[in-house]
Amino acid sequence: MTRSGLRVLVVEDSLALQATLATLFESHGHRADFAADGRRGLQLALDQPPDVLVLDLGLPGLDGLRVCRELRARADRHVPVLMLTARDAVADKLQGFDAGADDYLVKPFSGAELLARCVALSRRHRVGEANDLRIGSLVIDRRSGAVRRGDRMLALNQSGLHLLRALAEAYPRSLTRSELVRQLWGDESPPSDPLRTHLYLLRRELDPPGVSPMLRNVHGVGYRLETDL
Ligand code: CA
Repeated sequence: MTRSGLRVLVVEDSLALQATLATLFESHGHRADFAADGRRGLQLALDQPPDVLVLDLGLPGLDGLRVCRELRARADRHVPVLMLTARDAVADKLQGFDAGADDYLVKPFSGAELLARCVALSRRHRVGEANDLRIGSLVIDRRSGAVRRGDRMLALNQSGLHLLRALAEAYPRSLTRSELVRQLWGDESPPSDPLRTHLYLLRRELDPPGVSPMLRNVHGVGYRLETDL
């Protein structure tokens, strides 16, 4: 089957940016629909779930965070959300992830970067494969919680699975230590520093000696997964 272009819904109140993105997506064989306010954008996303929703944070009507929350609460399937934000503040990003965004881009961004993120998001959440998260030889079955790397099943505890899923869903981005802590313990502060222990156990299972390591420590940033293919 030939893979046709993506159907992208862009919710963005800047008409200039809408025009730029229309040209960008169309020139790469994708189809883009537009909404200029949050309420309309949410309705469109619910009526005809797009392959990727590109969602501005600051919007009239409902803001991007509200749109994202409502969508997560009401949609019967996972619509990948790429949040656009003009504010490069950690708090905004964390709020975006809390609201259920899958990825974010800080304005101004390059068209190539936006396209690449949209394609990556749609691949990770492709309909019909929605239960499997795949990165290189790593396959996470979201429904059963089974994880394998190539032919080898991984024996992960609940925390290890949680961390790995968060990293896989963020891929290829890094997650900061505080994002990982929030994944495990929400807003409750963790006992002491068990994140390190959980990461150690995860790494031991995921990256045994002799294989190319997938769990990477990004100095001064946090952790990310790297594909092994
Ligand atoms: Ca805006």
